[in-house]
Amino acid sequence: MASPSALDDMFGFISASPSPRHAVVESCRRLRDAGFQSSSAGSLPARGFRARGGSLLAWINAAKPGPVRVVTAHTDSPNLRIKPNPDSTSTGLRQFGVEVYGGALLNSWLDRDLGISGHVVVRHDAQIETRLLRIDRPVLRVPQLAIHLDRDISTKGLLLNRQQNLRPIWGIENDSDEGLADLLAAELDLDAGAILAYELMAHDTLSPARWGWHDEFFASPRIDNQLSCWAAVEALIGADTETPCVVALFDHEEVGSTSATGADSGLLLNLLAELTVDGADHDRSLCISADCAHATHPNYVDRHDAEHQIALNGGPVIKVNANERYATTPLGHALFAEACTAVGSQHQIFVSRTDLACGSTVGPITAARTGLETVDVGIAQLAMHSARESAGAEDPARLLQVLTHLFCP
Ligand code: ZN
Repeated sequence: MASPSALDDMFGFISASPSPRHAVVESCRRLRDAGFQSSSAGSLPARGFRARGGSLLAWINAAKPGPVRVVTAHTDSPNLRIKPNPDSTSTGLRQFGVEVYGGALLNSWLDRDLGISGHVVVRHDAQIETRLLRIDRPVLRVPQLAIHLDRDISTKGLLLNRQQNLRPIWGIENDSDEGLADLLAAELDLDAGAILAYELMAHDTLSPARWGWHDEFFASPRIDNQLSCWAAVEALIGADTETPCVVALFDHEEVGSTSATGADSGLLLNLLAELTVDGADHDRSLCISADCAHATHPNYVDRHDAEHQIALNGGPVIKVNANERYATTPLGHALFAEACTAVGSQHQIFVSRTDLACGSTVGPITAARTGLETVDVGIAQLAMHSARESAGAEDPARLLQVLTHLFCP
């Protein structure tokens, strides 16, 4: 069975991180507790970190020469995000308008106990401040239409209109014209007029949990990709090495990575320039792009390539794509596979069916921007992009072990 402590620690990380900014705050807390120093551009403590919105850079051995080891992951996950003018009523019920962030499995957001999280910009004492917000009781719900009123569902499947059918209910209409600003003001102990702007999203308030006869599996929100964020941060904290090592956690992967803090920004590139990794060191450096992989679904075996079946608890997955949807090079592949063997773990290789479009991740983007040898990896999961995903209980600890080993070449 899995090391219970590693899995529980990962549950703690994910539970603390309902939004990308919360994931960064939790990562910073862990790094600070381990002696890392917060730093701004231009200063490079030996063990340091830099947070920017929903993204984070952390490193060790900043001044040491030699090839660098980089692990990247992403803090964001698909979800429902509250619109700027969200308030509406229908049939006596208060509702919020939402946008769909990323490639969410929309059905998975129905009939769930949803909280609200993110950050709010407020005016306080004549200053503009940014406050983290987390409402962890189920204030929102998107009820599914009863089957009696949707007779086509058994033949045509569930069809959801994003504008019309996903609006969460949060209260009953009354004489007051209260809305989201009042709800936020009450939570933040401010006047409603002090709420200026926000980035807020729904999150499932159900905690991560093991499942299966022998607890072989676990279910959790945001396995993609906060599991990899946890493994990257903990591997960096635990690495006993002279090698310069970097962790880069990016926001906005689920919407293409083009943003001021996404993988397509200059964040990682600028840090690598400060580390002065160049010449031969650069050629011997390695970037491990950690993001989740699709386990073979037992009810849909034909969606996978017959020679590349992926098992839960089968060890970390190396992802390969001839069309550079994954950035894995043969050398990166070999180095990662050797690291798995060195820590006593199996590994698996994912290739998409040739007649199915392949997903992607930050690997090709950071590879193109940094020029680093790259391997795209991740742990196997089911129900990727569901509000509640599943994975094998033994795999998170293995990924942590392999990343730690790769930080100590
Ligand atoms: Zn992902």
